[in-house]
Amino acid sequence: MKRLIALLAVLMIATLVSSAWAATPGVVSTAMLNLRSGPGQAFQVVATLPLATPLVVLAESGDWKQVMTTTGRTGWVFGQFVADEPSFVAEPRNVSVRVASLNVRQGPATSYPVLGTVREGQLLAVTGHMGSWLQVRTAGGLGFVHADFVAPVVEPDQDVSVPLARVNVSLLNLRSGAGTQFPVIARLTRGTPVAVLSEDTWARVLLENGAIGFVAREFLSPVDGQALARISAESVNQRSGPGTTFPVLTAHPRGQTVAITGLSGDWVQVNGRAGSGFILGSLLVFSFATGEEDALPPTPNLGAGLSRFTVVIDPGHGGRDPGAIAASGLRESDVNLTMSHKLRAKLEAAGATVVMTRTTDVGLTLAERVAIANGSGADLLVSIHNNAHTNPQISGTQTFHGVTDGSFSLGLGVHRRLVALGLNDRGVLTANFAVLQRTTVPAILTETAFLSNPQNAGLLAQESFLDQAVAAHFEAIREWLLGTRRARTD
Ligand SMILES: [Zn+2]
Repeated sequence: MKRLIALLAVLMIATLVSSAWAATPGVVSTAMLNLRSGPGQAFQVVATLPLATPLVVLAESGDWKQVMTTTGRTGWVFGQFVADEPSFVAEPRNVSVRVASLNVRQGPATSYPVLGTVREGQLLAVTGHMGSWLQVRTAGGLGFVHADFVAPVVEPDQDVSVPLARVNVSLLNLRSGAGTQFPVIARLTRGTPVAVLSEDTWARVLLENGAIGFVAREFLSPVDGQALARISAESVNQRSGPGTTFPVLTAHPRGQTVAITGLSGDWVQVNGRAGSGFILGSLLVFSFATGEEDALPPTPNLGAGLSRFTVVIDPGHGGRDPGAIAASGLRESDVNLTMSHKLRAKLEAAGATVVMTRTTDVGLTLAERVAIANGSGADLLVSIHNNAHTNPQISGTQTFHGVTDGSFSLGLGVHRRLVALGLNDRGVLTANFAVLQRTTVPAILTETAFLSNPQNAGLLAQESFLDQAVAAHFEAIREWLLGTRRARTD
């Protein structure tokens, strides 16, 4: 009997060793990854794993991977969101910061202490990367920044994109075909930048808002610059040809920038650090960086980007309900209204239609706010709040998402940018708020910071901080409208 037990023990150890030996290390490569009880969407979610969680992959079944966490928990995840274990890859290059303020951390995760912050547009020398974190050299020494919040600096000698031009007449018809017999699909104003896909008498052009058509070549003036596109979804495949039947060459993280080299149907031919290939156009946000902004009027096309969209802004509280009040006397209802007016200005400047639930210090019921949102035909609702807690030590930013599809991704976009400002990450959550539960449009409620925390309240009293927080809202809303929203409605 003893021998049998010993033999069983040996067999069990052998089994464990062989399965451990077969296991390959990996890491979660998306913001939130559902761990499920089986290999499919139909199985129950047993946990949600944050970005950069270390895993071992035990088995595979179709697109799904069976994984074990460091705490010994096992389950199944969608395999596309498991990356190889991050190990440092030396790859020197330059990047620029593309959010208002970005934390530089001691290590490659948000759990590491912040060493300092860098500002939008600042150039950083990258020494290499670990997973989606870049090691950068700053004045304060070596640190890590998340790759989502920087853009590659395209060196002049890598100028491979299609040529750029600007409209040189006050109004130019964009037509569906090469000739005046074709219908006009848009009117372009003077200075509008276009990427020139073919250079005949009728040039085939791509606009920053993704529209494609033909214009008379003589009304375009060539300009220097790069036709760039930014990846607007998580883990986007670059394929060897213009269709899903072509092999995947590489997957790009959200925020990665590639140069546009051509177009084939709905597929954009690109050139990035991974080489040449094709990406589905609806997963890209186009941006034409020209060096001649001064010579022509400000680009009206940036506005055209959001002209199809309507946004409801709901400044929380108001009237007899001031919301939270800071020790300094700063009232939440006033901060919410100031932020909402700033956000409205930015969205309207970008061409969006904005509906405000209130524009002055008046009170509205929650039902009235919901009715305005649902009756507006809007693409989204953002309810602007700030937080309070009985414990003044508690600080940070918290974002709540609604029940309508797309609400979570919208909330996550705003939240990540607010966290990048250096605020404590208190998560993206659901809550039983009327503006979230009873709205029929994608909806979020942001709690940028805590009025009950003296340090947070100090930030909320600063114009410059409110501008940064509003920019975080605006950038995320713009990206969501042009990415997620456009992909769904077109
Ligand atoms: Zn509130």
